[in-house]
Amino acid sequence: MVVTVDGPSGAGKSSVSRRLAAGLGFAFLDTGALYRGVALGARWAGMEDQLEAVIEAWLTRLDLEARPVGGRFLVLLEGRDVEPFIRNEEMAGLASRFSALAAVRAHLLDLQRRAGRSGDLVAEGRDMGTVVFPQAEVKFFLTAEPAERARRRWLELKPSRPGLTLDEVRADLDQRDERDSRRALAPLKPAADAMVVDTTTLDEDEVLTLLMANARQKLNLA
Ligand code: C5P
Repeated sequence: MVVTVDGPSGAGKSSVSRRLAAGLGFAFLDTGALYRGVALGARWAGMEDQLEAVIEAWLTRLDLEARPVGGRFLVLLEGRDVEPFIRNEEMAGLASRFSALAAVRAHLLDLQRRAGRSGDLVAEGRDMGTVVFPQAEVKFFLTAEPAERARRRWLELKPSRPGLTLDEVRADLDQRDERDSRRALAPLKPAADAMVVDTTTLDEDEVLTLLMANARQKLNLA
């Protein structure tokens, strides 16, 4: 069984999806980490500004893996856990740029579907319900007002970047939103059968309660 959680950055998907997966006893797949993994690989290989055909050829040599470990998928690049290197705005921006390339999306489509065949899954991303797992039993699309999403992101980033202003975060987020929603391939949008949840005025526990109740009902879980 597959539960999908899509939405823009700052809508509160990550921690809710993780907790939803734990509550349901499903594995958690963070597909943004895979796009960030490709971005990091591109940085390591000097592929950032190459033509798409060159990137396509490089992808066939890319050693990127989503390995199931203790209820989630670890993203490994050349056998190394990429987590410490991908959680920054630079990798987010590069991931967003690379995610518009057909070759990158096709490459990751395979990887994501393989993860989906390994068992029950909560998959979080931008196109889980529309493209990667259109047959998913339960689909959610989380959203929130841009100002609130920027505020959340800013609070998250502030500890590691004290000089960062809310305006800078907002500009970055607007640019990423624009690119993610306007790209021709798998643009960010709710699946027709997704439950859309506006989290602007909800806290994490409230969102989780809502999603959990809906998922349990649709999955016929007690
Ligand atoms: O979710 P996260 O911020 O980690 O994703 C980084 C970037 O990867 C997003 O801005 C988006 O461009 C891209 N992405 C995507 N499709 C997904 C997950 C992420 O295009 N399923």
